[in-house]
Amino acid sequence: MAEIRIEHLRKQFDDFVAVEDSSLTVENGEFFVMLGPSGCGKTTTLRMIAGLELPTSGRILLDGDDVTFLRASERDIAFVFQLFALYPHMNVRRNIGFPLSCQGVPRSDVRRRVEETARLLRIDHLLDRPVSGLAGGDRQRVALGRAIVRRPKAFLMDEPLGTLDAEFRELMCQELRQLHNRIGATTVYVTHDQLEAMAMADKIAVMNHGVIEQYGPPQEIYDRPASMYVADFIGSPPMNFLPFRGSLRRGTRQVRLNGATIDVPEIREEGAEGDLVLGVRPEHIRFDESSKIRGKVVDAEYLGTTQIVTVTTGHGTIKARIGADRPADPGDTVGLTFVASRLSLFAGGSGRAVR
Ligand code: ATP
Repeated sequence: MAEIRIEHLRKQFDDFVAVEDSSLTVENGEFFVMLGPSGCGKTTTLRMIAGLELPTSGRILLDGDDVTFLRASERDIAFVFQLFALYPHMNVRRNIGFPLSCQGVPRSDVRRRVEETARLLRIDHLLDRPVSGLAGGDRQRVALGRAIVRRPKAFLMDEPLGTLDAEFRELMCQELRQLHNRIGATTVYVTHDQLEAMAMADKIAVMNHGVIEQYGPPQEIYDRPASMYVADFIGSPPMNFLPFRGSLRRGTRQVRLNGATIDVPEIREEGAEGDLVLGVRPEHIRFDESSKIRGKVVDAEYLGTTQIVTVTTGHGTIKARIGADRPADPGDTVGLTFVASRLSLFAGGSGRAVR
């Protein structure tokens, strides 16, 4: 078990800064997901935690001890690249035990630990079977077993499900999450897939161009995004952004958009003025004939219990998620209202949340 803390971590490759002044704490036993698009610095951060890459500056602490300059092999952290590469000519027992045998662990200990691991993964009945004959799910469990058999202090996983097809990915996500619930080892998991992140994480860090924009529990990231970047990256369809000019001061509870007055959560901090942006998640929009915010339906995508309705308005195109039983046909004129308590406000220039 371990707490991982990074402090002002920075990594520069020649004149390119891959990770900029990153600080965060992964608490003991947490499943922590680093999320962001390709090239944002997730892998570089993970490699620095693993000891595979030396930071340009900053510190890495493992359970309070500074490990910044320790070799990877001295950190007792397992780095899992892909969860499906097995040795096809070995049976399940030897596949799982391989990392221990490589370390020179005595055979009787290897046997005991492989059996414990197999019981944890509920594949103990398969131990003497060749991996080549196993069903997909069992193969994944064997691969997981090989990753966890060493019982390291923490796991680092870099897109371990990257090349699996969607259905299998979902299954493995559940498997990984359940395994985490059972063994509770600190895990840092890198992905660019927001749904995967939301489903698995205790906490998510959203990265953008080498910078951690925000980190916290999934619900906090979703409900109180710290920036337009975070709000846009998480949620599908993403948050609607409605630009307007105005002034937000401490105590402000309403804004005006093209003559419509809109209730917003009370501004409690420093405020902002000039170019501002109102952020509205699609599911926080209601149809209301009396609303001054009017628009024309251009598309309705039926999803079973809900539908995504695209409406063009004087504030731009807005996507609303409403009940599938509400009639909404292309060409209809509709009025829109927003759930006041769920709205976000951003400064137009910086894109930072104004609260
Ligand atoms: P991906 O999912 O594509 O791996 P990522 O978010 O994990 O993306 P990184 O692999 O950390 O991103 O890379 C961040 C940036 O640093 C990229 O622009 C990459 O090209 C650059 N980079 C990474 N390693 C090196 C290196 N050894 N030398 C030079 N540039 C590097």
